Amino acid sequence: MSFIHSIKFRFTIWYLLVLAVLLIALGGGVYFYLSQSLYRSLDRALAIRSTQLCSIQDILGSIRQGEFQEQLGEIVILYFYSGDQLVEVSAPGIGVSLSQEFVSKTIAGSSAFTTSQTTEGETLRLVAVSINLSMLGPPPGIQPAALVIARSTRQIENILARLVSTLAIAVLLTLAVAAGGGIFLAGRALRPVDKIAQTAQEIEEKDLSQRINVNTKDELGRLATTLNAMIGRLEKAFQRQRQFTSDASHELRAPLAVIEAESSLALQKERPSGDYRQSLETISQEAKQMSSLIDQLLILARADAGKEQWNFTEVKLNKLIANLSTDVEILCQEKGLSFQLGETQDAVVKGDEVRLRELFMNLLNNAVRYSPAPGTVSVSLRREGQMAVVAIKDTGVGIPPEDIPFIFERFYRVDKSRSRAAGGTGLGLAISRHIAEAHGGKIEVESQVGSGSTFSVWLPLHPPSSQT
Ligand code: ADP
Repeated sequence: MSFIHSIKFRFTIWYLLVLAVLLIALGGGVYFYLSQSLYRSLDRALAIRSTQLCSIQDILGSIRQGEFQEQLGEIVILYFYSGDQLVEVSAPGIGVSLSQEFVSKTIAGSSAFTTSQTTEGETLRLVAVSINLSMLGPPPGIQPAALVIARSTRQIENILARLVSTLAIAVLLTLAVAAGGGIFLAGRALRPVDKIAQTAQEIEEKDLSQRINVNTKDELGRLATTLNAMIGRLEKAFQRQRQFTSDASHELRAPLAVIEAESSLALQKERPSGDYRQSLETISQEAKQMSSLIDQLLILARADAGKEQWNFTEVKLNKLIANLSTDVEILCQEKGLSFQLGETQDAVVKGDEVRLRELFMNLLNNAVRYSPAPGTVSVSLRREGQMAVVAIKDTGVGIPPEDIPFIFERFYRVDKSRSRAAGGTGLGLAISRHIAEAHGGKIEVESQVGSGSTFSVWLPLHPPSSQT
């Protein structure tokens, strides 16, 4: 990435632009204020000087005679009419371009400040006041005249020019220092971004154990923390996926190994037909186990891909439970367990009946699978607030408290050999929880080792208010 396209560069440019505008505005303000006050004090000095010159008759007399000694940088000119002729009395060699109209107006009585130029092009600030020359003696009568006192503005112009060049140098120096500082600070502030990008580049799918090492508490620190949490989640997901693949192949290998061993054993030599029958029964049982494992793997794969098709209708849970009870009763009888259908209140939920049946059947199968005879499996259905609660209770082996948080994970089994021997795949509860959550519900477990477990399925009632 080129420097021009970096955020660092853009940050600095914006910052410099704002700073330049502020400095120019400040410089302009200083220039304006100083020039105003310098010109005002020049006007004040001119006004004082004019009062001084006009109030002393001798001075007026010498001005009229053209003998007045002006101060350095000062020009004094007297205008009056002699007949129709406008007479101008000034030091020799001095020419000020003032319009006749302006001079006539002053002679007529008005006084004003104005800016004019000498014939050499030098700028002058001047005050023109009207005076009366009659007190100076003949010719008698009222003699209106105009006295112009002018001073060069060169000194002010020099001061202002020096101010402009000083300000320009100061602004340029400030901008240069600010640009250097801006690039340095932006670079420092954005260094964590480079670090984040570098770490992100280094992280590969297979090694997600790396983390971004940014220890600040600012926005970039928060970004790094968020990215680290995301990488952590990805790592866990990849780990789960790897674990799942290895578990699935392991689960499929076990029945395959049994089938392979059983069939090679049967084929080794001629055997009585009863032995073949037994081998085929074992093979068929293992094939069934594989088939149900593959079915459940497919269900989970579809769930993960979000490709499940749900057929939501109004499901009468009490009816569904009553139906299931008939099947479960047979399972219980086969295993020497008793079955109890407890209180079943009316409850309607919005759901996919086939999938709900699968959910309850998984839990009921587990209840039967993990309960040694003699024992009892019972089901009840109650409404609680806006929810329907189906409780499946057994008097089986129970689940140790340390295992309870994990039993809904794929392939997690408390006792692997017991589960496999009983035909379990280790996927039933993962599927059941997925179905419950897809219906906006949840599954809770209470269990005590040696005395049994209760799995409670909570599903939202439909419509929520009409059934309370
Ligand atoms: P499995 O096919 O092994 O039964 P599940 O996902 O249905 O797989 O259950 C996961 C594990 O939870 C089981 O292996 C078993 O150890 C435990 N479990 C589930 N239900 C019960 C129950 N009713 N009683 C005791 N343990 C249970």
